[in-house]
Amino acid sequence: MDTISTSSDTDDTCLRICELLSRSSPDPSTKVGALVLRNYKIIGSGYNDFPRNTNQDPLLWADREEKYRRVVHAEQNALIGINARNAILYTTMFPCSTCCGVIINAGIIQINTFLIPEAFALRWNMSIESSRSMLRSAGVEVKFHLVPSALVR
Ligand SMILES: [Zn+2]
Repeated sequence: MDTISTSSDTDDTCLRICELLSRSSPDPSTKVGALVLRNYKIIGSGYNDFPRNTNQDPLLWADREEKYRRVVHAEQNALIGINARNAILYTTMFPCSTCCGVIINAGIIQINTFLIPEAFALRWNMSIESSRSMLRSAGVEVKFHLVPSALVR
């Protein structure tokens, strides 16, 4: 069981912004928002989407295999084009193993996310374990937060 961290006002604000960002994702089933913070300044943000200037046909989103081949995850979009060395990442979903590789190599030192929902944990168990293992050995701290009360629907 993951330990719940105490959320600072900054954590709450950043996770709320991530949730707002996630709403921009055109993915009909999974919407993720992420942002990168350094010295209390947002230096990157993103949501899961197909690459810019590529075919955005909803039929491509409906085809799960094709979607997986094309989509750029929120965490990667938030990290593209910035220097994230020693920065903090916020994301609405525990990052997949591919994103964890990018997060580690980008120099992120801490990840803040929501507790992993049980259904998600069961479905993505292997990826979650790979992520946890890599983050642990790379020394990236992971803090789990409760969904801010303002976001509880
Ligand atoms: Zn990912």
